[in-house]
Amino acid sequence: MVNFRFSILNYYFLFILERNGVLHSKITIPLFLLLSSLFVTPVQAQPVPLSIKVTLDNGTRTENAKLYELNKEKFLDVSDLADFLAADIKWLPVSKKVILSLKGVRIELTYFGRTATINEQKVKMTSVCRLEKGDLYVPLSFIISRGFTKPVGLRIKFDESTKTLKIFQTPNISGVKTQQQEGLSQLILETQEKLYYETSLEAANKITVDIYKGVLDQDKKYTVPGNALVTNMNLIQKSNKVSWVIEVCPEFEYSVKVVDNPWRILVNIKKTGAQVCPPESEISASTQPASVAVVKAPPVTPELSPPPVVTPEIRSKPEPPKKVNTAKIRTIVIDPGHGGKDPGAIGQYGTKEKDVNLSLAFKLAQLLHEKTNLQVILTRKEDEFIPLAERTQIANLKKADLFVSIHCNSGLDRKASGFEIYFLSERATDMEAEAVANIENSVIDLEDRSAVTDKLKAILWSLTLNEFVNDSSELCSFVVGRVNEMDVDLLNRGVKQAGFYVLRGAKMPAVLVECAFLSNKREERLLNKGSFNDKIAKTIFNGIMDYIERKEQE
Ligand SMILES: [Zn+2]
Repeated sequence: MVNFRFSILNYYFLFILERNGVLHSKITIPLFLLLSSLFVTPVQAQPVPLSIKVTLDNGTRTENAKLYELNKEKFLDVSDLADFLAADIKWLPVSKKVILSLKGVRIELTYFGRTATINEQKVKMTSVCRLEKGDLYVPLSFIISRGFTKPVGLRIKFDESTKTLKIFQTPNISGVKTQQQEGLSQLILETQEKLYYETSLEAANKITVDIYKGVLDQDKKYTVPGNALVTNMNLIQKSNKVSWVIEVCPEFEYSVKVVDNPWRILVNIKKTGAQVCPPESEISASTQPASVAVVKAPPVTPELSPPPVVTPEIRSKPEPPKKVNTAKIRTIVIDPGHGGKDPGAIGQYGTKEKDVNLSLAFKLAQLLHEKTNLQVILTRKEDEFIPLAERTQIANLKKADLFVSIHCNSGLDRKASGFEIYFLSERATDMEAEAVANIENSVIDLEDRSAVTDKLKAILWSLTLNEFVNDSSELCSFVVGRVNEMDVDLLNRGVKQAGFYVLRGAKMPAVLVECAFLSNKREERLLNKGSFNDKIAKTIFNGIMDYIERKEQE
């Protein structure tokens, strides 16, 4: 009786907390367990731990982990699952649910009933989650099923022979092809979406195309027949990108571009000298780790290679798209906000601002690469932590002409929505603008002491800085002027000013874009959509182009 009263009171207390959204994992788990144990049928068999390995980050990282066997079925502890998926976990003791949130996806699990709820859709489970000694165990059969992997945008497999759980992003690189004719070779990388790339010439005969956010299909072999121009090719999966390494017979020129419908990255290689490379002597064995999907199938002799298929595409080599030449503005720095230990704002479905900012920055950079001759520099291309002051330092060192910091907004009012753009000012437009700056500046706490000294220096410095304010505010107006053209329902909140540390110290016009609100459920979902992010990137791009056009006329 005493127990019963106690539990009712607790349930009421927890109900109030749950309704107010205050419940978070660590504090409530013990209560959840205590209360659940009062209602759950007696514990049956003990879960038997089995040592396994888990490969994460697209196969670039492996960790030791445990599976649990219960009545001959395999389970994963829900906290471990949350860790592997980088999901936020919440326990709701009253409704007896565990909520996992990641990248705009909300997964509800219970320990009764054969359904889970993913983004409000019921998903059938082959067997039930189990609550044993206060831990929730999720059946492996469910985790690797399409019902689970598809909505979370992952490929999850369990390899029985190596006892390895493999968690990969959904592949977005579908294949590679080649076309060739006399003195000309074209490599075609087929992708599922538009991906940002950068090229470099590592050695005299080695072209590297880094494809950011690229994911190879681990079950696929990416092969092309070799030829006298391309002597070797490797696709190497890294944590945040795919490196496409193309070895070419010396004396050549090359160009890289993205084309759409369907999306693909083209590398055109043209012979410029007379040097001949017999393929077999040039092809070296791959030095990449075996786990990496790297394949090259060179012909044994050049004579055996199939007759080249020449399509009109390569025969009439497409004209490079007309690029805007700018004289006054040459270099632009794009700064994807946050990164590494600083996630920025986190949406209700677990979307991290740092990830969205990086995607948006890549999209904007790609547009600038394609349509202009501007030098485009990103302050980060990976999920890494860069102190605020360093971001403008990069721009100053590169003598950039524009600095654009990309962010997503977050408000206490979960209904707050829309697009806004800021320039630096010691006085904020209003309380709301000041609050936005305070949130964005709070990362200073994660920085080391010297950074704080830099911060003080920056404040002093900013007092002398007014020369770029006009240009910055003008750039803001041009960008905002393009928001209403977007074919999507997004509130235009206009131009504002506030004291953002990240803009301080910039010796060039500098703006900070708050693309949409991660704290708003609808906009969080939108920010997880490639098509929406394309539109945002295009809007910012158009605004920048309007500004540049104006400057060039001055
Ligand atoms: Zn931010």
